[in-house]
Parts: sequence; structure tokens; C-alpha cells
Amino acid sequence: MADYDLAIIGGGLNGTSIARDAAGRGLRVILLEQADLGCGASQASPRLVHGDLAGLERREFFRVRRALRERDVLLRIAPHLVRPARFAIPVHAEERPPWQLRSLLLLYEHLASRSGLPRSATLDVTHHPVGNALKRPFGTAFEYADCVVDDSRLVVLNAVDAAARGADIRTGARVTRAERGETWRLVAIDRGYRRVITARSLVNATGAWTGSVAETVLRVPAPRLATVQISQIVVRRLFDCDYVYAFQHADGQLIFASPYAQDCTLIGSVGHAFKGDPAIVAMSVREVAYLCDAANRYFREQITPADVLRTISGANSVIAPARRHMRDGAALLDYRRGKAPLLTIFGGDVTTSRHRAERAVSEFTRFYPMTPRWTATVPLPGGAFAWQRFETEVDIARDRWRFLGEAAARRLVAAYGLNVKDILGEAKAKADLGPAFGPELTGAEVRYLMRKEWARFPDDVLWRRSKLGLTMPQADRDALAAFMAKPD
Ligand SMILES: Cc1cc2nc3c(=O)[nH]c(=O)nc-3n(C[C@H](O)[C@H](O)[C@H](O)COP(=O)(O)OP(=O)(O)OC[C@H]3O[C@@H](n4cnc5c(N)ncnc54)[C@H](O)[C@@H]3O)c2cc1C
Repeated sequence: MADYDLAIIGGGLNGTSIARDAAGRGLRVILLEQADLGCGASQASPRLVHGDLAGLERREFFRVRRALRERDVLLRIAPHLVRPARFAIPVHAEERPPWQLRSLLLLYEHLASRSGLPRSATLDVTHHPVGNALKRPFGTAFEYADCVVDDSRLVVLNAVDAAARGADIRTGARVTRAERGETWRLVAIDRGYRRVITARSLVNATGAWTGSVAETVLRVPAPRLATVQISQIVVRRLFDCDYVYAFQHADGQLIFASPYAQDCTLIGSVGHAFKGDPAIVAMSVREVAYLCDAANRYFREQITPADVLRTISGANSVIAPARRHMRDGAALLDYRRGKAPLLTIFGGDVTTSRHRAERAVSEFTRFYPMTPRWTATVPLPGGAFAWQRFETEVDIARDRWRFLGEAAARRLVAAYGLNVKDILGEAKAKADLGPAFGPELTGAEVRYLMRKEWARFPDDVLWRRSKLGLTMPQADRDALAAFMAKPD
């Protein structure tokens, strides 16, 4: 008998969503990730959980409605990671005419009819906080509601939930070889050790590596793919309000500027076709300058490439744009008599990741029995509260752990939801939480991330489990590295 029903290669959003779904449906699951969870494309998303307003212009009404439904599902099951946000579209010369924007927003709201998010409105930005940061002469903006997400924490919490339901999550485990017979026999280099794993079915969820893994590891023909790169920049905060700004740029590119971490602004995205090693994806000087220039066109505060605190880039496999119906990503199942099934899944956006995984796992019902679909109604770890109660949960945390400042409480609730108690426990003062690394991170949080969330190295904590790397001084990083290297 095979060790597992399902082996998944790749610990990005697609792989971990499938692991969660399948483990909860009773399958014996192993997920093998060569580095850290969410270290690929899944930490470089535009961080939007949305129906995609622009999809309405392409007349993709069905797709937009389905994405809006999924937006509401994610908001319900992950109210800590997925937060409602007000989006502002300032009207300017290159923007669509106001009547067209208004009609689009009305249709968008109609398709999202039961969301419970606030309705769209027209703002006079000469008197509204949205206008404070903008250059003159913006007079009007349209505002509407959508959501933003902490993409890399969504990946990690999918894995945490999968593990809680019995999945074996292995990070630092690179699959190097696979033999396909009636079952799969995989060879992985698992933290330096060679390990052989057998599984009844296999999922290739390796993002930008999909083609190379198919050809060199699985030795099957690769699907027809293109690889694209998207990049964003992080700068100090350009505006005080909590809005996400969306601009239709002169060249047709949609530019978003959104609040990021505590005091920063994320500006993106810019993309192009990618060639090379997906583990080394860097933003070009030209792209950085492009996003700075784009922001300078709209915001009063001017930025140059020297102001960029961090660039965020990722590469991902996509199918040819001509096949619009597959914009939500692709899941290709290959099975033949005497050959164990192989599912290849790639692309797609964050918003529809849960649904994509649900559909993908359902493909395996023809091979073995499993319990019904479940992920649309069960919260992710720490997310068992209504999204409208987020601020209340922050207040409760501040009340229980009185040493927490508001920003720290908000960050912890946003990252861990109700599970923040597993980190702070009975602490009465910050000193009870072990050594401090920078103003926010404590030894207790780091140990929690190492024990429960597979963090092994400082970058796993500073960039994927949090964004504290943006503000942490070098001396504290060094201390963190030494702390993580010590046995518990
Ligand atoms: C160019 C681009 C465009 C995007 N567009 C959108 C968008 O429009 N809307 C939106 O919401 N989101 C978008 N996203 C983000 C979205 O989050 C990704 O599409 C999604 O996260 C892809 O996840 P994945 O799991 O397929 O890939 P990844 O997150 O890249 O995960 C693949 C994983 O496989 C691992 N791996 C590879 N080879 C092996 C091996 N041999 N053994 C073990 N592990 C291996 C890698 O280390 C990696 O962690 C985009 C991202 C990018 C980079």
C-alpha cells in the first residue's frame, strides 16, 4: 500500500489550498516544498481579494460574480487575513468617463449583492481625506468596497490547517525524481536526507517551476505555458487614509497604491514575460522607475528609486491569454490505465484559490472515496469570528494583554486571529515574552512560528510570516538569526 493517497509538490497557494482541502476530506496527504511555504509567486501577489472590476469591461460577468462570491467566502473564513478596504478611483484625464465608472460600480455591486460591504459612492476629493495626498486638480473620485489579503500568511495558515487535519507538511524538501507506475514513487532531498515516498496520486503545484518539474522530475510532457513576472515596490507611507487608490494609468496599466505593513505604501504592479530561474526573480531598474513615475503623477509626495524600501517580485506560470476562460488558472488531470493519476495546477488569482483547490481535489473522487466539500464554511486557524468583529477582537486583545500598544495588537490579531492567545499566553508584561527583536517581535512569537508554522530562518519570519523585516535594524536581525539557530 502507498504511504499516502496524495502527494503534492509545491507549498505555494495552490499546493497548500489543495493540502487543506484534501486532508479535510479524509485523504492521507503529504506536501513537499523545496524551500519555505509561500516563497514563490504566492508572496508577490497584488494582495487583492476582489471580483476584478476590470473583468466587467471585458464582459466576464460570470467570472466576476464567482470571484465576488469567493471574496465573501474568504472574508468569512479568514476574517483576520482578509480585510475589507475602501478603494478610491480618482477621476482624471486618462480615466474612464465618470458615467462609465459609475455604471461599472453599480453592476459590480449588483453582482456582489449579499456581501454586506458598504456601497459605492462619489467623493468630492477637494473636501475628503482621500484628496489630501493627491495632486491637484482631482475633483472627484469614486469609492467602492473590496478586500485585501496577507497573501503569504494565507499560504501558511492553509498549511497549518492541513497539518491539523493530518497532512504531513515538509519544508526544505525538494522532489528530485518521480517514478510513475500504479502508484507514484518520489525521491526527495528532505533537509539534506534522501527520502523515498509513495503515493496513489500526485499534484504538481510548482508555479513557475511547473514545466521544468514536469519534464525533468516527473518526465512527462509539460503543458503549454508562459512564465510571467510581476513586481511591486514598497515605499514609506504616501497617504494617511486607509484607502486603496486605483489609477488607470496613461498606458492602460492599472496602478494600485495601498497601505502596507504599518507605515508603508505598496505600489504595483508591473509585469513582463520571464525567462530564467524562478528562484531568482529581480525587478529591473526601469520597472522601479516606472512605478515611481506612475505614483508621482498622482500623489503630491514625490518619490525616487532611492526611496524604495523593498521590491517584491515573483514569477508564475500562466496559460496563453487567448484562452480567457482559463484565466482562473488551470488544473489538468492526466490518468491512464496502469498509471497513477497526475494533476497539474498552476496560475490563477488569490481570490479563487480555495475554489480552485476544491474543484481540483474533487477530480480525485473518481479514484477513491472522500467526504464532501467543506472548505467554504470552516474558518482557517484563528479565524472563528465574524469579520465585522475585527476591531472588537483588537480591543479584547489590548484589554487582556495591557502591555500591547494598538498597532502591535492590530498586527497580532491580523496575523493570528484568535490564536494570538497561543503566543501571548499568561504574559503580564512584554518582558515575559522572551528576548525582543526590534520594537515588535518577541522570542515567544518566534518560537511559536518555528514550532507551529515551519519557520526556520529569519527571512521566513521577517518577510513571509510577518513584514517586520521592513523596520528591523540589522543588529536585531543578527540577534534573531542567533536565536533561531539555537535549539529550543
Ligand atoms: C506573475 C504573477 C501574476 C499574478 N497574478 C495574480 C493576479 O492577477 N491576481 C492575484 O490575485 N494573484 C496573482 N498572482 C499571485 C498568485 O498568488 C499566484 O498566482 C499564486 O499564488 C500561485 O501560486 P502557486 O502555488 O501556483 O505558485 P508558487 O507560490 O510559486 O508555489 C510553487 C512552489 O513550488 C515549489 N517548488 C518548485 N519546485 C519544487 C520541487 N522540485 N520540489 C518541491 N517544491 C518545489 C517552489 O519553491 C514554490 O514555493 C500573481 C503572481 C505572479 C508572480
